[in-house]
This record gives sequence, structure tokens and C-alpha cells, in this order.
Amino acid sequence: MMEKPEELKLIDENGYRIDGRKKYELRKVNMKVGVLKNANGSAYVEWGKNKILAAVYGPREIHPKHLQRPDRAILRVRYNMAPFSVEERKKPGPDRRSVEISKVIRGALEPAVILELFPRTSIDVFIEVLQADAGTRVAGIVAASLALADAGIPMKDLVSACAAGKIEDEIVLDLNKEEDNYGTADVPVAIMPIKNDITLLQMDGYLTKEEFLEAVRLAIKGAKAVYQKQREALKERYLNVLQEEE
Ligand code: UDP
Repeated sequence: MMEKPEELKLIDENGYRIDGRKKYELRKVNMKVGVLKNANGSAYVEWGKNKILAAVYGPREIHPKHLQRPDRAILRVRYNMAPFSVEERKKPGPDRRSVEISKVIRGALEPAVILELFPRTSIDVFIEVLQADAGTRVAGIVAASLALADAGIPMKDLVSACAAGKIEDEIVLDLNKEEDNYGTADVPVAIMPIKNDITLLQMDGYLTKEEFLEAVRLAIKGAKAVYQKQREALKERYLNVLQEEE
């Protein structure tokens, strides 16, 4: 979040945002499951201008071995931004932000995965951000959840996610980059829609308690809409498998 230039209006007099959306409108979301031949599971998500690939390997033998858990698999997540994914070239390799995001994404996915079924193994999730425009952690969670399902890993629920935030004194759904930069707050949320559980809840910026609750409610609504798209993308994947078999 940065100081907003005075002349910049994030919502115009007709209630439209700079990319033409209304307050509660999601960016365009498209997803495809099963896009990589050499991973056990994969998915590609385009969410507004975000372009994100997720790949899953496992359950597989753990290296180093001392990380093995006798009673369950471990889930490892790496969120990585490509150098060309942002306006100012990002230095390759992990930084504080990507280490933190990897950790919170792991926390968002872990409650959904039935790790007890695969003792002594690891399930590794790689999230590659090819193009970033704010909301990459929620889009990454959505992609990773699809990739886990595609890998055939038993899950209690899909994990869906979306952010809401505050711009120009209004609570709005799904901030883009300018809104994230010059807005007042951003609240990413991940949910397990069937289990009715929240698995990620963060806040950057300033909100009153009422505004925070409004943002969380709105983000959950957004995540539920994204969940429907995840289901469709998975169905499409299996229809394709069926057709290949015939
Ligand atoms: N960003 C950037 N350079 C960086 C990190 C982030 O340009 O090194 C941009 C990128 O578009 C990202 C946005 O800032 O999506 C917001 O980042 P934030 O840390 O809030 O995470 P996100 O909203 O992507 O989950």
C-alpha cells in the first residue's frame, strides 16, 4: 500500500473502478486442470492479469529423510515469482515475501489434504507466478488446490480463495495492482466451502472492525464464486480424460 496521488480516482462518479468493474465484481477468472505432462498434477489459472501455474509431485519419498513423519505425509509449498512477472524485474530466488507467502499457502492447503494416508512421504506443491497483478497468493491457492486434486490426492474439500479490500472509502472485491498499491486495505481469504472453514485470513492496511467483517464476508462470497469455476475446470479435465479413452 502506497500514498495515493491526489488526482487518482480509484472509483469514478458512476461507481466504476479503473478497470471498469463495479464494487463487488470479480476480475475474469479462467482455469485449466492438467496442463503439465511431467507433474503428477497441475493447473493454470488466469485471474485478471495474473497468470499462475501450479504443479504437484507426490506423494513421493522425502529428501532429506530426517523430515519423514511416521504417521503422515508432509506438505511442502514453494511460491515463486518469475523475474518477468512484475513491472520492475524481480531478482530470481526466494525473498522474505515469497517465503512468507509459501508458508501461508501451505497453511491454507494443509487442512484440506488427508496427509495421514501417506506416511513417510512428501507432497510438493510448486506455484509459479508468470505474471502478477495483485492477488497472486489467492490465485496461487486456487491453482494449487486444483493441481492437488488433479494429482489424485485425497482431500476433504477443495480450497478456494479470494481477496477483498478498501479503496476510496469503499469495501470492494478482488483488488487489482493499482487498487492494491493505492488502496487502504487488502484482505485475502481462503475457505473450504463444503467444510465451511476459513484456512487463510490476512489483512494488510487499515480497517475498522466493521469494515474488516464486511471485507471478510465479501471475500468469502468471491471465493464461493471461484469455487464453482474450480469444479467446472475439474469436470472438464475428466471429460477430456474420458474422451481420450474412447
Ligand atoms: N509485486 C511486485 N513486485 C514484487 C512483489 C509484488 O510488483 O516484488 C506486485 C505484484 O503485482 C503483486 C502485488 O504487488 O501481485 C501485490 O503483492 P502482495 O504482496 O500484496 O501479494 P498478492 O496480492 O500478490 O498476494
